[in-house]
Amino acid sequence: MSRIRGIEVKVQKEILQTRKYGLNEILKKKNEDLSSNSKDDVEKQQITDLLYKLPKLDKIFEVHRKIGEGTFSSVYLGSLRQHSTLPDSEKRWFAIKHLVPTAHPARIEHELRCLQDMGGKDNVIGVELCLRHLDTIVFIMPYIPHRKFSEYVSDMDAAELREYMRALVVALRHVHSFGVIHRDVKPSNFLYDRDNRRYLLVDFGLAQRLCPPAEAVEPAPPPAHLNNTRKRPREEDDSSPEAKRAALDLTVGPKEPPVPAPSRTVVLSKTAIGLANASKAWTGVNGGGVGSGAAAGACACACACAGAGGVCSACAARPPPRAPRAGTQGFRPPEVLLKYPHQTTAVDMWACGVVLASALSARYPFFRAADDVSALAELADLVGSAALQRAAGSLGRRVVTSSHRRGLCLRKLCARLRQPPPAAPAAHPPAAHPPAAACPRCRLPDTQCLCKDDTKREEDFDPHAFVAGFPDSAFSLAARLLDPNPRTRISAADALHHPFLSAC
Ligand code: ADP
Ligand code: MG
Ligand code: ZN
Repeated sequence: MSRIRGIEVKVQKEILQTRKYGLNEILKKKNEDLSSNSKDDVEKQQITDLLYKLPKLDKIFEVHRKIGEGTFSSVYLGSLRQHSTLPDSEKRWFAIKHLVPTAHPARIEHELRCLQDMGGKDNVIGVELCLRHLDTIVFIMPYIPHRKFSEYVSDMDAAELREYMRALVVALRHVHSFGVIHRDVKPSNFLYDRDNRRYLLVDFGLAQRLCPPAEAVEPAPPPAHLNNTRKRPREEDDSSPEAKRAALDLTVGPKEPPVPAPSRTVVLSKTAIGLANASKAWTGVNGGGVGSGAAAGACACACACAGAGGVCSACAARPPPRAPRAGTQGFRPPEVLLKYPHQTTAVDMWACGVVLASALSARYPFFRAADDVSALAELADLVGSAALQRAAGSLGRRVVTSSHRRGLCLRKLCARLRQPPPAAPAAHPPAAHPPAAACPRCRLPDTQCLCKDDTKREEDFDPHAFVAGFPDSAFSLAARLLDPNPRTRISAADALHHPFLSAC
């Protein structure tokens, strides 16, 4: 009876709500409740399964809830069983990373070795324990509370951004001193506890050793598990780089292989780049990131078909260049997009530049292209097609673009993207003003022009100037990090001496 009464009350409440909010809203809310309930149920089941498969974990830890999920793992929040009677504030918290069982054992081992050898120092995640039973493997790591980058990307001020970037670069200097490339530097792998100003670089699942010396012939790709392994840093700079590399059993090769002869051109299918209308794309304030360049599809090889639509049969028959491309779309540098095989730690520095550009422009993601060719087009929009072509040339690659792109001024772009939205037009428009001076290059009024300033280098800066609320030096560092040429891109060690980061 009471149950029936309960149902009646519920129905009446729903009728009242239907009148107030409309049926659609109620149905929407119900679906959301259902899906969040079923999500909770699925997560609870996953935890139960994990504890069943790994009884040792259940013995030592309480597993509370899922806190993260990536391609290769699920991450749970855990605490020690022996602390179960303590108040939460006194418990020690852990991140329990459950590797997907299909991950290659060598890859898991490599991630673990990275964590053991490099972690626990300089903002690099360490590992407390690794538990395994059959194919169930977990890493137990210190937990750091953090929020999503998108929640704070637009409200970091200059001082906070400096600290954040410094912490990231310190972590990368540490990792790179072991001759390891992280390969997946991005905000979701750099955890930031904003309340306590703590930082952790995580996820060495794609980490890779530095390339061995360049061969006369392009080498075969390394085994997939090495090519896509996770890495992690460890002990600091008190030991020599040689000792650290030895600790990781890294093959040490010359950092800079000889420049391949430009004549050794490589076919990049669909390399002609149809560049988007940059100013239009960039100024779409609601749209977010960088303009999207549409791939035009043309042959990029040095044969007669260069510049024509499509790829010629001779070029199509050549084996595609093979190079590591592990990483995340939007954070890959030109050398990865161009399949240059001898990649270095500069790969991480580019990604670091993308993070900085995101924070300066308050746009995340910053680059939004869905595939490598469109990503190259976006890069050309930003750095200019000539700079991209020069960088490609130095790597023995050739990029053909359907039109010349001058490149965009990151300072102007960030100032524009951070501008408050325009006020609603006045009912009685004011008397017409004379048109603002037009830029001779893009022909837009000066207030809308985003053209690069050809009269000065982007890495130069005025120590007294501020742009969009950030010191001019921040844009100089961004230009050094987003250098399309990996050979001249700033290293982590040098970035720490850059005036933006050293002015603490
Ligand atoms: P994947 O390789 O699957 O991407 P990650 O190591 O990047 O796995 O972890 C996925 C997510 O789990 C992270 O983005 C983060 O939100 C969360 N996470 C990972 N490690 C920790 C940690 N130590 N503390 C808190 N959260 C973590
Ligand atoms: Mg990750
Ligand atoms: Zn202009």
